[in-house]
Amino acid sequence: SLSDRLASTLKDLRGKGRLSDADVDATCREIRLALLEADVALPVVRAFITRIKDRAKGAEVSGALNPAQQVVKIVNEELVGILGGETRRLTYAKTAPTVIMLAGLQGAGKTTLAGKLAAWLRKQGHTPVLVACDLQRPNAVQQLQVVGERAGVPVFAPEPGSGVGDPVDVARRGIVEARARQHDVVIVDTAGRLGIDTELMQQAADIRDAVSPDEILFVVDAMIGQDAVNTATAFQEGVGFTGVVLTKLDGDARGGAALSVREVTGRPILFASTGEKLEDFDVFHPDRMASRILGMGDVLSLIEQAEQVFDADQAEATAAKIGSGQLTLEDFLEQMMAVRRMGPLANLLGMLPGAGAMKEQLGQVDEKQLDRVQAIIRGMTPAERADPKIINASRRLRIATGSGVKVSEVNQLVDRFFDARKMMAQMAGRFGLPGAGSATR
Ligand code: GDP
Ligand code: MG
Repeated sequence: SLSDRLASTLKDLRGKGRLSDADVDATCREIRLALLEADVALPVVRAFITRIKDRAKGAEVSGALNPAQQVVKIVNEELVGILGGETRRLTYAKTAPTVIMLAGLQGAGKTTLAGKLAAWLRKQGHTPVLVACDLQRPNAVQQLQVVGERAGVPVFAPEPGSGVGDPVDVARRGIVEARARQHDVVIVDTAGRLGIDTELMQQAADIRDAVSPDEILFVVDAMIGQDAVNTATAFQEGVGFTGVVLTKLDGDARGGAALSVREVTGRPILFASTGEKLEDFDVFHPDRMASRILGMGDVLSLIEQAEQVFDADQAEATAAKIGSGQLTLEDFLEQMMAVRRMGPLANLLGMLPGAGAMKEQLGQVDEKQLDRVQAIIRGMTPAERADPKIINASRRLRIATGSGVKVSEVNQLVDRFFDARKMMAQMAGRFGLPGAGSATR
C-alpha cells in the first residue's frame, strides 16, 4: 500500500545524505508516465529521463522534501530549463521594418495570431502592418482584414479582382509599402495545408527568400500531440524557423507538444495563445508550461513553499521530538506558524493532487480557530510551553484571561495537545522517524 511504501522510503532515508538510485528510479517511472500522458514524444521522453537520472542520482537529500518530491523538483527544473528558462524576446531589425513571418499548418492559428501579435506590438508602441500572403483559401484575405480591423492595424492585401495571385509578389510589395509608410514591424501571414506538403513548403521558402524575415515563427496547435514532432521537423527542414508559438492552450492538452518541439528543433517558444480573442495571448512562460506538462496540480509550488518555510535542521529536530513524544507547545506554535506562512490551510491542501474530493471539508478549516489557538499559546510562559504538564487550574485561568478566551478553551487546547503528541509519536514510530518508540505523556 501507499503508506507502507512511504514508510519504507522514509526509513531508507534515515542516516543517508544522498538520493538513492532506487528513490530516483521509482519516481522517474511516475514522471515517465506523466510525460507520456502529456503527449510528449517517446524518444524525447527517453532522452529526458536519462538526463534526469544522471542529475538526480547522488543529489543531496534535502531536509524539507521527501525523495519523491526532491526528484520532482529536479525534473521541474530541467523541464523549465529545456522549455527556455528565461522567456526569449522578439528580435527586432537594426533598420526598420522588422519582418516577422508566420508559418504552420492550416488551422494552426496563424491568422488569429497575426492579429494578436499586432495588437500586442501596438500596445508596446510599435506600428505594425499585416501582409496577406494566404491566397490559397477563399476568404483568407478577408479573414485577415477582419483580424486587422479588430487589432486596429492596417492590412496590405492584393486588390480584390486584381488578378494578383502570387503570394511571393504580395509579400515583397508588402514590405516596400510598409517601409514607405514607416511601419516598423511587418507581420507576414502565409497559407497552410492540412498536412505536410512539398508545394506548401516551397511557397513558404520562396516567401522567406523574398522578404528575409528577422523572425520566422512556427505556429503549432498544442492539441496536435505526438504529430508535433513530425510537423516541426518538416517545417524546420523545409522553411526553417527562429521561434515557436503554441496555440490552443485553452484546450485540455497537457502541452507535451511544447517539450517535443523544443527538444527536437532546439528553437525557443516565444508566445502562447489561449483562445480566439485578441487578448488571449501572452509571452510564453516556461515554468507554467512545465507544471502543466507534469500535471501535478500545484504540487510544484507546494514543494517550493515547503522549502522556503522549513529549515532542514529545524525539521529534523522537530521530527526527533515528535518521535520521542517530547514535542512542546513552543514547537507546536512554531510549526503552526510555519504552516500558516505557506498560506491558508484550505489552499495548501487544495494544491495536492486528488484533493478535489476533500474540498468540502477543506472549506471548513477554521482560520479563526487557529488564531485563538495561537493566542492561547502566546499567553503562556516559556516554562509552560516547554512543559505543558505544569499548566494547572490557576495557570489555566491566568492564560485564559490574558488571551481573552474561556478557561474551557484553554483546557481543550491542552488536552488536545497531549492527545496529538501521543498520536504523532505513534505515527512517527510507524514511519520510522528518529527517536520513535520512547513516547511519554
Ligand atoms: P490558420 O489557418 O493557421 O490561419 O488558423 P486560424 O488563425 O484561421 O485559426 C483556425 C481556427 O482556430 C479559428 O477558428 C481560430 O478562431 C481558432 N484559434 C486560433 N487560435 C486559437 C486559440 O489559441 N484557442 C482557440 N480555442 N482557438 C483558436
Ligand atoms: Mg490563416
